[in-house]
Amino acid sequence: MSFHLYDSATRAVRPFVPLVPGAVSVYHCGLTVQSSPHLGHIRKEVVFDVLRRWLSFSGYQVKVVANVTDIDDKILEKSAAAGVEWYAHAYRFERELHDAYAALGCLPPTYEPRATGHIPEMIELIAALIDRGHAYAAPDGSGDVYFDVVSWPAYGELSGQKVDEMEAATDADPRGKRDPRDFALWKGHKPTEPDTASWPSPWGRGRPGWHIECSAMAGKYLGDEFDIHGGGIDLRFPHHENELAQSRAAGRPFARYWMHNGWVTAAGEKMSKSLGNGALVSEVVKKYPARAVRLYLLAPHYRSSVEFSNTSLDEASAQLARIDSFLKRAGELTAGWFAFAPQESLPAEFARAMDDDLGTPGAMAVLFGTIKQGNVAIEAGEVDAAKRASAAVVSMLDVLGLNPASEPWTGAASSGGDLVPVVDGLVEALLTQRQEARARKDYAAADAIRDQLKALGLKIEDTPAGARWTLED
Ligand code: ZN
Repeated sequence: MSFHLYDSATRAVRPFVPLVPGAVSVYHCGLTVQSSPHLGHIRKEVVFDVLRRWLSFSGYQVKVVANVTDIDDKILEKSAAAGVEWYAHAYRFERELHDAYAALGCLPPTYEPRATGHIPEMIELIAALIDRGHAYAAPDGSGDVYFDVVSWPAYGELSGQKVDEMEAATDADPRGKRDPRDFALWKGHKPTEPDTASWPSPWGRGRPGWHIECSAMAGKYLGDEFDIHGGGIDLRFPHHENELAQSRAAGRPFARYWMHNGWVTAAGEKMSKSLGNGALVSEVVKKYPARAVRLYLLAPHYRSSVEFSNTSLDEASAQLARIDSFLKRAGELTAGWFAFAPQESLPAEFARAMDDDLGTPGAMAVLFGTIKQGNVAIEAGEVDAAKRASAAVVSMLDVLGLNPASEPWTGAASSGGDLVPVVDGLVEALLTQRQEARARKDYAAADAIRDQLKALGLKIEDTPAGARWTLED
């Protein structure tokens, strides 16, 4: 089976046929850098990282462009409230975003354009839309330019809505709109906004609307037509609908497949900042191994929602421990043979699951099934079978970005120094002694060990899966 992908535009799983044979171009909408990234934001990065790894593994040359929205209403509001320059505010959270996706083992995109670096391309596109009769400068002197929704009969094709049934676009003051559903391509400068947040244009000083930036940047780096356009499901409307309309109305065929990932939910609701800081990537990776967090985000199918809970992160940590303990045992039995795992080791069943719309749940089942067989082989001392299983497991982990011996995880370990595994081993040994002391009801000895570890700055938590240690904040 070749790669098949669910296309949000046609609402069907379709065989994937790239525009240029052997090459894939992907654009996914990056973050508006207005606050610290939480798991809901970062799931998209992990999903598209797995897509990219799978397509590369399948032999495609993959080019990924993911933008950074570094100017918009929220950035202006929040920076003003914080009393910092809007660009300093945006840049700070852009760095946090980079830290977050590096922490979870996501490869950086081929290129990451910033909206503010592409104002001329946006102006060019807006001018083309005005020429073609699909956009207009507001007659009220505000300097706004709007897309004329009624002039584009296909509007609504992506999200399956009829224009007549749509609500007003709330992205701008309806200062000079012909129709409330028209959306802003360009926003005239307001005296209340900093001068630095405006650029010259044929319609006066101002700044771009949100949607136009992606059409302009995707066009610049991937061409008028490209393969996959993605983002979180909440972007399908209005953001992607508007990107599609304005690109096609300007004569560009635009994306061939639309790929949207589901939300991370908390108590069934879309995760957002209002839920507090507990789900910030920077916080979660302090409590759980980063590879476990990645595993937790990629194991469910990308189109389904992932419910946030400590229980599921604990489960992912336990799954990761199963993987690593298998690799350790297999490494001991086969003298590290799997480090040279050939690509052909990837199980066909795993490939089938991944080819079927990036079916990670099926792929994970093959992974854990292979680990189980491998453990049986290790128990029985069957070296060849253990080699086969470990090579297969390592290939699968490579595709999922979870191989502890591959970048970026090797880099991550060495940046903490080679002491990390040593410390880990010593703490584990102490925890085992403490466990043994408790088992013989020598609570004084057990508490003494805990206090000793605490004095070293380690926090011990007893979980159903055993004691876990973390460094205290
Ligand atoms: Zn976008």
